Amino acid sequence: MRTRPELPRGHASTSALARRTHWLLGMAHVRDPTMTTDVWGQRLTRPGLAALGIAGGGRRRLRCATIHQPRSDPMKARAAVLREMLKPRPYATSKPFSIEEVDLAAPGEGEVLVRIRAAGLCHSDLSTINGDRPREMPIVLGHEAAGEVAEVGPGVRDLKVGDHVILIFVPSCGACITCAEGRPALCEKAAAANGANTLLTGARRISQKGQSIGHHVGVSAFAEYAVCARQSLIKIDSTLPFEEAALFGCAVVTGAGAVINTARVPTGASVAVVGLGGVGLMSLLAARAAGARQTIAIDMLDDKLKLAKQLGATHTVNARDTDAVEQVRALSHGGVEFAFEMASSVKALELAFTVTRRGGMTVTGSLPHPAHRFEVPASQLVAEERTLKGSYIGSCVPLRDIPRFIALYQQGLLPVDRLMSERIGLDDINLGFDRLADGASVRQILVP
Ligand SMILES: [Zn+2]
Ligand SMILES: [Zn+2]
Repeated sequence: MRTRPELPRGHASTSALARRTHWLLGMAHVRDPTMTTDVWGQRLTRPGLAALGIAGGGRRRLRCATIHQPRSDPMKARAAVLREMLKPRPYATSKPFSIEEVDLAAPGEGEVLVRIRAAGLCHSDLSTINGDRPREMPIVLGHEAAGEVAEVGPGVRDLKVGDHVILIFVPSCGACITCAEGRPALCEKAAAANGANTLLTGARRISQKGQSIGHHVGVSAFAEYAVCARQSLIKIDSTLPFEEAALFGCAVVTGAGAVINTARVPTGASVAVVGLGGVGLMSLLAARAAGARQTIAIDMLDDKLKLAKQLGATHTVNARDTDAVEQVRALSHGGVEFAFEMASSVKALELAFTVTRRGGMTVTGSLPHPAHRFEVPASQLVAEERTLKGSYIGSCVPLRDIPRFIALYQQGLLPVDRLMSERIGLDDINLGFDRLADGASVRQILVP
């Protein structure tokens, strides 16, 4: 049985050199003279082995090498591991995330290893940190990301090393009833896998010292590398910068999808958006792109209202104002036709419902604590022909919608890049979530 040499303890294992060394060790078996076949069962030729030579090679060269020769050992990668929910603020002090070196097993059948190049910090991540979206610990969070394919597992034939991909937090199996209905956002198999912190394939590929670590919605992007199911990846053109591409994985599909797919906002409609984080601002931008005549941006923070105005909101209302509802009703002559709640709060949903006019539609795309309840007078739904809709991942069909949204962005109709604020490293992640919780930034992009 082949054994793998260990790095000496105390080695500066987080250094680039050491990480590269782990890659080298992971690849070392191809130089084992006793081994004449690769894991695909294909014979290795001497020139082939020479092509996989590691002397003088760096990461890049090794990634190229993996086109022909998947590794079979776990690799090391730095990751932000969440081991405990409900740590107190400030997170910069309590450090809910610890930056650790984890083991990533090689991608199995139908899986892909992705080098994460950019990951957005989203409110849904915060909701796990603060216990609003409880999950089994430990886990590597991060569900909005873009990267490049570093290795493909057996059976993956339509992606190759170096391809650029956006990671999608609801992979669709293509075989369940909701997938068959054309609603992959509701894929039953994906919901089960995401709930169990596994990949769509059912596997877990992250561990440390033999202890399994959960995947976050099949993505786990707060890390240098992630193993994902093929169905969690959408291939994109390599000309789109990673940091912009990442936003399409959650903020864009969730925010713009709610407007375009879930509500199908028609040209000339009046729209209000409650909650102006990355997702809410994307709803605002999509409403403008759809041709809404009126876009009323609502938030509790003046800075966010100011940004919304800069992004083209026709009006802004501070939700803290005691007459906020009256202001919106006056601006929209009795209420808006479409109101979107993107603040992860039942109070915000109540506000959105209240400012929707008779016959209008209220859409919520946020996820407050599962124990929180929203009450609606039943007769109001009937007498006012109200529609109340939930929107998960913007009711998107990612394979169809991501290229559409990218095209709108490239034509200047959906200026996604205007949402980007700070760029941070893995070591700044706790501070980054303080900023997000304070509402001090819109979309911070983590570059691991
Ligand atoms: Zn399905
Ligand atoms: Zn998100």
